[in-house]
Amino acid sequence: MIKAGVIGYPVKHSKSPRIHGTWLKEYGINGSYESVEIAPDNFEATIKELITEGYKGFNVTIPHKINIMTLCDTIDETAKAIGAVNTVTVDENGKLTGYNTDSFGFIENLKEKQPAINFNNGSALLIGAGGAARACAYGLLKEGIKKLYLTNRTRQKAETIAEDLKSYGDIEIINWDNRNAFPEDLILLANTTALGMEGQPSLDIDLSNLNRNCIVYDIVYAPLITPLLAQAQDKGHPIVTGIGMLLHQARPGFQKWFGTSDMPKVSAELEEVILR
Ligand code: NAP
Repeated sequence: MIKAGVIGYPVKHSKSPRIHGTWLKEYGINGSYESVEIAPDNFEATIKELITEGYKGFNVTIPHKINIMTLCDTIDETAKAIGAVNTVTVDENGKLTGYNTDSFGFIENLKEKQPAINFNNGSALLIGAGGAARACAYGLLKEGIKKLYLTNRTRQKAETIAEDLKSYGDIEIINWDNRNAFPEDLILLANTTALGMEGQPSLDIDLSNLNRNCIVYDIVYAPLITPLLAQAQDKGHPIVTGIGMLLHQARPGFQKWFGTSDMPKVSAELEEVILR
């Protein structure tokens, strides 16, 4: 039996066991994928236990995405650039390799839903500068976006991302108070803040001056159509919902742990099952 899982604190809310459970059935693999709650003060000892139990790897969620890096023997370039690890493999000698698949998830979902997108054709605006924003910023820069604009309530955090990722492309900060004055050549506007999520206030933004061809993407997926996406739909923008990012980021880990020849597929049916 091949074992993998997701570690976090808390972790009960995670949709990852349902995603991987669906794929394990689909492939007919004798494997398991479970949630493992690890309190921060018990972190290292519990990771060692998982290795001893024969885990092939795990996903990592809040609050362990940064402290897991100290236990990894190798960290890939993407995870280093983003500064966080969300996927870990364990080799036959118990050595850990850390990856970050959030940027892959963000970009794959975008390309799947808006296949005509041409990253070299314009600029993108990311709203937010938290952990998710870093992954999205890295992904867009690697795809060759002409220019990346960042805006965040706390400007300093956007400045830190711009500094850390400056070797990957052109980044400019827009003041939070000027967030409705959109650059003319935007091909993508993406919300990476928690605003718009159930139980959170809506993102306060007015899309009136945004060019109508600009794709509006929200990585929040509960609700699926956030107030931002509802406004974008009303104004006739192409939109991308956030659930596909969650599904796509899970694909590389599944292939690495369970040894499939290809990555599992994401489908509209899977999106529906996971949202239920
Ligand atoms: P995080 O590191 O805590 O960052 C939160 C961001 O939201 C910061 O930019 C923060 O601004 C901003 N924010 C929060 N409350 C705000 C408010 N009242 N007004 C203005 N800005 C506010 O969180 P994260 O890990 O980046 O996650 C952000 C969201 O993305 C969450 O909802 C998460 O569920 C979602 N997410 C989705 C996926 C997916 O697969 N679809 C993957 C990862 C994350 P300040 O810096 O000013 O505090």
